[in-house]
Amino acid sequence: MADESTYARPLPVLQGLTGEFYAWCAKGELRFQRCESCDAWRHVPREMCAECGSMRWQWKRSSGRGRVFSWTTTAVALHPAFKGATPYAPVVVETEEGVRIVSELVDCAPDAIAIDMPVEVVFDAVTPEVTLPKFRRA
Ligand SMILES: [Zn+2]
Repeated sequence: MADESTYARPLPVLQGLTGEFYAWCAKGELRFQRCESCDAWRHVPREMCAECGSMRWQWKRSSGRGRVFSWTTTAVALHPAFKGATPYAPVVVETEEGVRIVSELVDCAPDAIAIDMPVEVVFDAVTPEVTLPKFRRA
């Protein structure tokens, strides 16, 4: 865990529904919105269900398990704070609930990542305010 004065990578803005999502992460819970009308899960957070148009939803806890849906290997840092971290691999994880989330694997070099690799969530408190959901091999 780094304090805010040393953590230089871009951080989410903790406002509105995004703030609520990260507040659950800070409690060690991966939660997504679930529509109360059609039961569809969704991420990133938003007010309206894209499946049925309902505005009724609740935060529901994810199993935290999923599979690698896609990834890319970044060889050249596009932000100065990632200099020295290359190569790194942003991944898209498809959770058991069916939603996809962009994250990273904490225990796997880019050349060892594979499509459909089973993963599970871990939480990384990168600042006192921000905890990021990341994944490890399951
Ligand atoms: Zn719906």
